Amino acid sequence: MISESLERLRAAIPEGVALVAVSKFHPVERMLQAYDAGQRIFAESRPQELAAKVPKMPGDVQWHFIGHLQTNKLKLVLPYVCMVQSVDSLHLLEAISAWGKANGRTVDVLLELHLGAEETKQGFTEEEILSILASEKLDGIRIRGLMGMASNTDDMAVVDGEFDRIESLFLKIKSSGREGFDQLSIGMSSDWQLAIRHGATMVRIGTDIFGPREY
Ligand SMILES: *Cc1c(COP(=O)(O)O)cnc(C)c1O
Repeated sequence: MISESLERLRAAIPEGVALVAVSKFHPVERMLQAYDAGQRIFAESRPQELAAKVPKMPGDVQWHFIGHLQTNKLKLVLPYVCMVQSVDSLHLLEAISAWGKANGRTVDVLLELHLGAEETKQGFTEEEILSILASEKLDGIRIRGLMGMASNTDDMAVVDGEFDRIESLFLKIKSSGREGFDQLSIGMSSDWQLAIRHGATMVRIGTDIFGPREY
């Protein structure tokens, strides 16, 4: 049951850590069950799926985007989301900035750090992130923190090392006093407990809430 899963997760997740319900590939009917159980933050990873679901869900849902985003799909995503967690190229960052300026919006974004997961080449290196943050401020966006996806492995020592790496970078930037930089999005169904021990401020959980993805 979705409401029971949510209850269990809420009891285990400390206050101050946001639970992001990853609803990709799950039908709206199941998302509404989560909504009725009090869930308000939902995340999608495909532009068309997000755009199709938005009008079917209540207006107070806070949408996050967590998938690969091509710049020709911005119009399907940016009008609806309060955060793009998966910014993985300078090209995309600049395109979101241009959209924000043109539409009088400031879009909250996270920079995705590549965490050695072989199956995804997505994400910046540490050096790239530091250089983006050191360069001129972009209008129309606010860089709120970092996102990372650990390797898909049962070896928790590997995941621990990867979370360690992103936590260190996050704390280094945060302690430099960068304004508004306060979000660390790490942890999925398989590793969110470990992510919380590494200072996650957001965990992105799909399977543990909704069960296996349906399509
Ligand atoms: C699918 C996805 C998740 C959730 O994965 P689960 O294992 O189902 O919890 C989290 N983050 C990202 C970026 C995803 O694509």
